[in-house]
Amino acid sequence: MQHQKEVEMPIAALVVAAGKGERAGGAVPKQFADLAGRPLLRWSLEAFAAHPAIGPICVVADPAHADLVLAAAAGIDVSVAAGGATRTASVRAGVAALAPGAPDAVLIHDAARPGLTAGVIDALLAALRDADGAAPGLPVVDALKRTQDGLIVEDVARAGLVRIQTPQAFRFAPFAAALAAAPTDAAFDDDIALARAAGLSTRVVSGDPRLMKVTYPEDFAQAGNLLAPPGAGAVVPLVGSGYDAHRFGPGDHVTLCGVKIPHTHGLVGHSDADAAWHALTDALLGAIGAGDIGDHFPPSDPRWRGAPSGVFLRHAADLVAQAGGRIVNVDVTVICERPRVKPHREAMRQATAELLGLPLARVSVKATTTEGMGFTGREEGLAAQASVSLLAPETTDVR
Ligand code: MG
Repeated sequence: MQHQKEVEMPIAALVVAAGKGERAGGAVPKQFADLAGRPLLRWSLEAFAAHPAIGPICVVADPAHADLVLAAAAGIDVSVAAGGATRTASVRAGVAALAPGAPDAVLIHDAARPGLTAGVIDALLAALRDADGAAPGLPVVDALKRTQDGLIVEDVARAGLVRIQTPQAFRFAPFAAALAAAPTDAAFDDDIALARAAGLSTRVVSGDPRLMKVTYPEDFAQAGNLLAPPGAGAVVPLVGSGYDAHRFGPGDHVTLCGVKIPHTHGLVGHSDADAAWHALTDALLGAIGAGDIGDHFPPSDPRWRGAPSGVFLRHAADLVAQAGGRIVNVDVTVICERPRVKPHREAMRQATAELLGLPLARVSVKATTTEGMGFTGREEGLAAQASVSLLAPETTDVR
């Protein structure tokens, strides 16, 4: 790629984005997931690109994610190196990619820490004047204990302890030599540990709470609120609910959550009458204030006759994504006396998780009867209700 900066700078940035990011859930690894309107990775790339001392930026990522990296880096000059099986292996690949440019120093950073500031970069570079390495650290304020099998077995003095963040900055040549000297299968907790193992001198500089690591889905909201100006791109939780019912008619199966369930009757409806996915579609539309399923798929439109309801659910999920929203979890309840839903629940969860790109743990399918009461009790039809939760920019408006 072309270098956009006029002068080749001697300080390189290495952003590690090779993790699978599964703990955060979501359809894409967390480093590419949306945080207050930008991919998580982009926050760090923008911070490095905006700093006058930083020259080449290398992103280490799974080659399968190269397109996601380039999309997240749009307009920012980056190179991409193929990540390894461990963090240390990924750092090794990135350092090798940067070596031909012979930078004086390298700042190695986790893509999962979006809150990088120019102040932290300045402090790290200043620390390299009399040390081989430097990292931001924050004081430990909670009391520390060592535990064993649930018992507290030792009080740990916290004086002198810090929580280390990234970027971790190093003079390039000694750090590259430390990497070269480490066993090829070495897996260090962080790059300071690798540098110290090689006997390099390392310093701590003041960390920043905004450099918090985004690990779990709820961290996106917290990081978004730390980073985005209030009211302009802050992330808020949204919830939606949906309800649907269809009448039994002639047929030999019903379709619920895309799964065909044998029954003495079918369900009457314009589409495949999948009340469970209709309720879920309405819940997603409800969460972003985008009307209801009938607004988007009018029953009067012949295109939707017999349509698989996955089309409706996918459309609603696309609208959520267009609004910058990320589905956190969905919960569906089917209400009927028969057919028995329980034997099909896991298949229904699976189909729903797959269509929405969610981990199975974020998808619930339940069933209940009404103990013979009401229209479901009389087996005139069945009903379904659904709830969803999302994280979305505060400014979400798709109408
Ligand atoms: Mg319906």
